[in-house]
Amino acid sequence: MYTEIFGVGSKRRVLVVDDEYINREILGNMLCDKYDVIYAGNGEEAFEKLQESDGSISLILMDLMMPVMTGFEFLDKYRTEGRFTDIPVIVMTQEEQAEAEAIKAGAVDFITKPYNMPEVILARCDRIINLFEQKKLIDSTENDELTGLYSKEFFFEYVKQLMGGFIKDDMDAVVLDIEHFHLVNEIYGHKKGDFVLKKISDILRKQFEGNLGIACRAEADIFYIYMDRADDYQKLINNITKELTDIKVTPTTVRIRLGVNSEAEDEASVQAMFEHARIACNLVRGDLMNQIGYYDKKLHDKQIYNEKLVADFDSSIKNGDFKVYYQPKYSVLHGEPMLSSAEALVRWIHPELGMISPGEFIPLFEDNGLVQKLDQFVWKTAASQVKEWKAKYDLTIPISVNVSRIDIYNPDIVDLMVGIVESNSLKPNELFLEITESAYADDAARLIEVVNELRVKGFEIEMDDFGTGYSSLGMLTSIPIDALKMDMSFVRKMLDDDISHKLVELIIDIAKHLDVPVIAEGVETEEQLEELKRLGCDLIQGYYFSKPVPAVEFEKFIQG
Ligand code: C2E
Ligand code: CA
Ligand code: CA
Repeated sequence: MYTEIFGVGSKRRVLVVDDEYINREILGNMLCDKYDVIYAGNGEEAFEKLQESDGSISLILMDLMMPVMTGFEFLDKYRTEGRFTDIPVIVMTQEEQAEAEAIKAGAVDFITKPYNMPEVILARCDRIINLFEQKKLIDSTENDELTGLYSKEFFFEYVKQLMGGFIKDDMDAVVLDIEHFHLVNEIYGHKKGDFVLKKISDILRKQFEGNLGIACRAEADIFYIYMDRADDYQKLINNITKELTDIKVTPTTVRIRLGVNSEAEDEASVQAMFEHARIACNLVRGDLMNQIGYYDKKLHDKQIYNEKLVADFDSSIKNGDFKVYYQPKYSVLHGEPMLSSAEALVRWIHPELGMISPGEFIPLFEDNGLVQKLDQFVWKTAASQVKEWKAKYDLTIPISVNVSRIDIYNPDIVDLMVGIVESNSLKPNELFLEITESAYADDAARLIEVVNELRVKGFEIEMDDFGTGYSSLGMLTSIPIDALKMDMSFVRKMLDDDISHKLVELIIDIAKHLDVPVIAEGVETEEQLEELKRLGCDLIQGYYFSKPVPAVEFEKFIQG
């Protein structure tokens, strides 16, 4: 395609820079069939030739040791001046040490002296010229309108070409994402949002001047970058953040994070390489201490493991590998502890991997939405369990089911819940719903709407993991709830840590004030139990009474 711009069949011009006549001759002879070769005797002369050539030079072959201006001095000026950086430089050297330095200094490749493999040298020159012409072509045509960066398609194509070469060992796939970019748009308006995106693009472009680095905007606020490995990616973040501060969008609003993938991967899967960087990037989402995630072997294995879990989900649902366990909640305030209700907790008895804890697969299934299907299975199982025990023991043991943050977005959730209790001839208040406090931070308006509708239908809502979110108190004033379930971490620490103890007291106070029961979970010892009782905690759940157990085993608690 680039032949249209550069002329079909026209001989590219190569500038050979070497102070030794004999070297110039040898190289010239190798190249002159294919290229139009011109010469310079040192760095300074090379600049003169570049000046005169008016853009007609396609490649520079540069010796390092020369009088007047050495190859390194040339590269220095070439980089800082930036006028000729769209012409690639290959250095010619004898020592390996110098090769690495030259690449760092801005050369794209090196050729080792003596020149005993003419085909290799020719192929190398060819490839570099091609790459840079392509890059120029892309620069001139295939850009993202807003930012002027490459389109994603061209970016992938170009990276593939780069990787086909020899440079990939010290290049990284990097994903840059802006935290809460939608807030910038909402608070400052779309114009400011666009401005931020453009600014970041400019900074990236500047970063790559004279280097083999390219970037594209992959999605709204996500940039893909293929670049020379940075010694310190935090510096790149700091540079960008600083410039954004200068334009009066405070860095507390615009926080960026990076995902870095240094594993040289197969050029056939450029896309996968960036998806991996993206996984690393998502690892530090919302992390206030750390803005850079690295893709490494551990993450890679984890990803493969996760992919297996996702792949096995459907067959496991079908084959009944998911089991619902029940953990009792005891009422402790008056006399002997009395069984009051249970929490349904899902278990995966995987046919090959054995028992997998929900801590491993629930977050994963929340990311891809599968949790909805799983939760519906748990809700139905729990409801029919309440019904079964009701018939068998002639009393209701209400079961709390977990409602994931993701379920809140299901527009049918209320109808679904109603359908489940009705088909088991239950009243809505025989199935409690545990909703985690973090759902409020996700989308408060939607949560308020759903909770209100569910309560109108007669369901009772327990606020799970209470006290961990940033908005615990704010939430209570806007959402009517029926029970507070304080987060396990407070109970765990309350006997050794004053602050946790105070928080437990505070949460119990709040519950009293709202006139709703408070549940403590994760209670393992008698000391914890006694202290919670003393503070006025109504309900206790934890290993002190029992681990979550299968339904059959649970019956011993019903029988007393
Ligand atoms: P959660 O809802 O806060 O559940 C309490 C977790 O604490 C359970 O872990 C339970 O086994 C554990 N636990 C109970 N008593 C004690 C104790 O005395 N000491 C200690 N160390 N741990 C105790 P599990 O079953 O591994 O579940 C972990 C989380 O997975 C749950 O936290 C919940 O967020 C999620 N989850 C479990 N089942 C479901 C489900 O069916 N649907 C959804 N959406 N999430 C579920
Ligand atoms: Ca729960
Ligand atoms: Ca909890």
